[in-house]
Amino acid sequence: MTLAPESPTASSAPLDELAGALSGFVHSPGSDEYTRLATPWNLAEETHPLAVVEVVSVEDVQAVVRFAAAHDLEVGVRATGHGIINHLQNVLLVHTGRFDELEIRPDGWARIGAGVKWERVMEEAAEHGLAPLAGSSPTVGVAGFLTGGGLGPLARTYGVSADRVVAFDLVTGDGEFRRVTATEHPDLFWGLRGGKGSLGIVTAVETELVHLRTLYGGAVYFGAEHVERVVRTWAEWCPSLVDQATTSIAIERLPDAPFVPPPLAGRTTVAVRFAWVGDPEDGQRVFTPILAVGTPIFGAIGEMPYTQLGMIHSDPVDPLPFHEHNSILHTFSPEAVDALLAVAGPQSECRQAMVEVRQLGGAVAMAPEHGTAFSHRDAAYSLLSIGIPVGPEGEAVVADSQAIASAMEPWSSDGALPNFAGSMDPRRSARIYDRETLERLVGLIEQYDPKHVLRAGRPIREALQLAD
Ligand SMILES: Cc1cc2nc3c(=O)[nH]c(=O)nc-3n(C[C@H](O)[C@H](O)[C@H](O)COP(=O)(O)OP(=O)(O)OC[C@H]3O[C@@H](n4cnc5c(N)ncnc54)[C@H](O)[C@@H]3O)c2cc1C
Repeated sequence: MTLAPESPTASSAPLDELAGALSGFVHSPGSDEYTRLATPWNLAEETHPLAVVEVVSVEDVQAVVRFAAAHDLEVGVRATGHGIINHLQNVLLVHTGRFDELEIRPDGWARIGAGVKWERVMEEAAEHGLAPLAGSSPTVGVAGFLTGGGLGPLARTYGVSADRVVAFDLVTGDGEFRRVTATEHPDLFWGLRGGKGSLGIVTAVETELVHLRTLYGGAVYFGAEHVERVVRTWAEWCPSLVDQATTSIAIERLPDAPFVPPPLAGRTTVAVRFAWVGDPEDGQRVFTPILAVGTPIFGAIGEMPYTQLGMIHSDPVDPLPFHEHNSILHTFSPEAVDALLAVAGPQSECRQAMVEVRQLGGAVAMAPEHGTAFSHRDAAYSLLSIGIPVGPEGEAVVADSQAIASAMEPWSSDGALPNFAGSMDPRRSARIYDRETLERLVGLIEQYDPKHVLRAGRPIREALQLAD
């Protein structure tokens, strides 16, 4: 199935009428606010929604959804723009940035508005010795992350972050407001934890926090001469790890640019990321085999406050153009390591800025009571490649990521994770959800969004057709 290129689409829908019905704001193409709020974090993607609707209340969200249903439009949603959401012709893009409530209870609970980013929750929770199960980047939005399950740097210890969610406030595609918990609309509670924006627009989420002030962890980087041995050692070491440890590696080729630390700029390196929950001395002992490979050229592992979690992956903070590919591996055997090194190692012509392997398993594999729409809990590793497709080599960068995926196919299950390498392509949805999950999600979409207003539901419906 080929998706049409994105282009702005004229519509006769009376947007003035919508604006008059809202407390918030409707921004149309051409305005500065439209450009600011519609431009995605991934600058390689273009999104041209019909309008951006900056909502300030649940009633605003309901009004947008009902307006869209009445005028044969679709509705998308974004907070930070970190997720890729393209192909938005005839889409009203709800921007949740003004939903900024945040309440934290010292017993380990938080209510978080849909416009809030993890960094704020981390800072405020730390005042009570608490930690939210954020992802690798503190600037990612809470609602977008949790509706995709969410795999953070402590995932093997604490599991999929959405498993800790206790309630969502939601506007479904039929325009109704619903409080969703394990006992109120349990079907939606299942589907929202993995189903992304396909079942409704979350206006606030309530989640458990864990009691954690510090952890032992960080990242160390090795130069090109050590890459092969580090990757082989890491792959042998991973199966021995207990659930207190979460780790990943990233073969990086960062540009020779002022924002890149000089030891990493313009060369091939490998980062080993590590997070250990428990006695730091035990963590130090567990990490010894990695440091035995050689002397790191950059980075450090040690005791750190949880608020510094972002240092483990050191994700970029500013928007940039990139191409992403994600798959999941059922093993990272010596043969799989050979295959990866052949296409992404220091001897290869690889043009990816980063090729990352995250070890999964541990608590990630344990589904909460009644389950969630997060499939592939049995994945052993996640593989993610990120390239910067600019300049004359742009097409080659995209081709590279496909070459890596193909080379790793013998060790891949035909799956992907909801939060990585987002797109509106139904073939991606078919990889994210197993057949049973797809059927159940489509059933919920038909029940709660009978007019198919929510844009995120479309690839899921189409994915089920592809599977038939
Ligand atoms: C640098 C970086 C690091 C990342 N690290 C991790 C990581 O470690 N682990 C991980 O699991 N993911 C990670 N991600 C992926 C990230 O979790 C997803 O891209 C997530 O969707 C971002 O949410 P957002 O609100 O910030 O982005 P947005 O672009 O605003 O939203 C993306 C999508 O999330 C959904 N969504 C957002 N808000 C709502 C809402 N209110 N109601 C319903 N659906 C909503 C929609 O489907 C929307 O299209 C990372 C992404 C980046 C760019």
